[in-house]
Amino acid sequence: MLLSRRVLLLNASYEALGTVEVARAVCLVWKRTAEVVVPDGERVLRSQHYTFEVPSVIRLLAYIDVRRRRNNSGKQRLRILMRDRMRCQYCGAHGNAFELTLDHITPRSRGGSSTPENLCAACMACNQRKGDRTPEEARMPLLATPSALRYGLDRAVLNHYALMRPEWRPFLFLDEDFHYQTTYPHH
Ligand SMILES: [Zn+2]
Repeated sequence: MLLSRRVLLLNASYEALGTVEVARAVCLVWKRTAEVVVPDGERVLRSQHYTFEVPSVIRLLAYIDVRRRRNNSGKQRLRILMRDRMRCQYCGAHGNAFELTLDHITPRSRGGSSTPENLCAACMACNQRKGDRTPEEARMPLLATPSALRYGLDRAVLNHYALMRPEWRPFLFLDEDFHYQTTYPHH
């Protein structure tokens, strides 16, 4: 089904945000919320009066703060637990959504934010043991690297799609430094 074909959605900064269905992508372009970056070959969508070029990659014209959006989502906790494969990121213990907690890697009392890259799954024992300390102070190194924490969220899904959509690859395999700088402009 053409209408349910996926379109890669980029932020105004060209950072990959995820995918939307063709119908939604065409609507975003029609409303001038987004522009077509890469068309989907020769595919077109016909309505009674108009013909639309089907996009493969679109880009939002205004930058959206993804981090804030994700924080507001009630699903964030579960997304992070899934990103961390339901394992405590300190000791590696497996747990379910009730057994695992979300740990602020840099504690909130020390200025740590509630963004996905500062949150990880932790078992209750590790969470208590770590307390108000950074992983370095507590000598509890993380199993995952910070960049894995950041990209793990939607990355696996996007990379899967990229196998079938070669035109997406340039947007999904930007080097990590670029993303890092856009995420931490003051570091
Ligand atoms: Zn643990």
